[in-house]
Amino acid sequence: MQTKVRCAEKKCNPVKRNLSEKEKISFGKLKRDIIKPGICTLCGACAASCEYITIEDGAPKLVGPCKACGVCYYQCPRTITTEEGLIGCLRYAYAARSAIPEIKGQDGGVVTSLLLYALDEGLIDCAVVTIRQKNKPGNLCQ
Ligand code: SF4
Ligand code: SF4
Repeated sequence: MQTKVRCAEKKCNPVKRNLSEKEKISFGKLKRDIIKPGICTLCGACAASCEYITIEDGAPKLVGPCKACGVCYYQCPRTITTEEGLIGCLRYAYAARSAIPEIKGQDGGVVTSLLLYALDEGLIDCAVVTIRQKNKPGNLCQ
């Protein structure tokens, strides 16, 4: 049994090291990879995820001591550019379609069905979603 535990610990070490390396990503990398090349969409996710980032003069700016936690970088939708980054490491992938006839979602209505289930079961209080409207941003619906 002890041998098995030691083996498991050994297998875990590289994963821990990789995670701690990833955590050291700072605002500088976000600036270098996304903001300076001009591919920032000003979505505000980085500013929303860190008290030391604000949006000023049309770009995210660091206004406090960066702790190099990497959160802003991984929150940024523009840093996910590889296939692995888009879907992450996965064990299984499924294609699905809602079984509720009234639901005609863009991609089979799966998200709508899951949200309805979560609302019905009291798992969530509300869901913020968008709809498409010509020449207007989508309404927020509950
Ligand atoms: S989230 Fe804030 S503290 Fe963390 S890396 Fe980005 S700027 Fe630095
Ligand atoms: S999260 Fe990325 S795309 Fe969004 S404002 Fe920050 S740098 Fe720009």
